[in-house]
Amino acid sequence: MASLSDRPWRSLRWLVLAPHADDETLGAGALIAQMSAAGQFAGLVYLTDGSGSHETLINGAGRLIATRRREAATALFRLTGSRRNPPMHLNWKDAAPAASESFDFARTVVKVAALCRRLQVDAIAVTALDEPHCDHAAAAQIAYAVKGQAKRRLTIAEYRVWGEVSATRRYHSVRTRSMLIGRRRHALRSHRSQLTACYGPGFRLPKDKQRMPASDVLFIERSS
Ligand SMILES: [Zn+2]
Repeated sequence: MASLSDRPWRSLRWLVLAPHADDETLGAGALIAQMSAAGQFAGLVYLTDGSGSHETLINGAGRLIATRRREAATALFRLTGSRRNPPMHLNWKDAAPAASESFDFARTVVKVAALCRRLQVDAIAVTALDEPHCDHAAAAQIAYAVKGQAKRRLTIAEYRVWGEVSATRRYHSVRTRSMLIGRRRHALRSHRSQLTACYGPGFRLPKDKQRMPASDVLFIERSS
């Protein structure tokens, strides 16, 4: 399998787009660790506000959003060793993605495109287009729409959190360097609200998902 340290990928500057807080560690933790060590990590942006993982009283959603933001910032710190560039948030509601022809979708694409210009991004890592979760698929659609608008070359690399990898010749499979698995687990443990009962009944990340590999595999379209 090709390596992210090979041409033409080795000098790219990366933005990671994650649908939810925890996807960054599950699907792109090794990428973030490798790129931040190399000075090629531009930033992490979350699509949703995290308010849908638990049932909350009407006024409680703000607290859950704040908790998940804090957990996300800690996870990024544990992956990169720095708090200099905290995660950014696009604040979509969980599991209610805007349709690709809607105004909200277009506005988000403009926002992410501006971010890419400002941070001089060459590549966006995003959840795979064919993942079963609607927010994961929507994040991929946003990334490809940003690529469609970009005036400079932009590479889109899909990482997979949920669902099976379907073998296809459309993509290069590119592996990141391995990271210390303990460091990755430490980052995942930042997401206490998704792993424990501390927030009451709600989403719980299945145990088998918590066993993460040491490296990530990115799927990059052959044309790019
Ligand atoms: Zn997710």
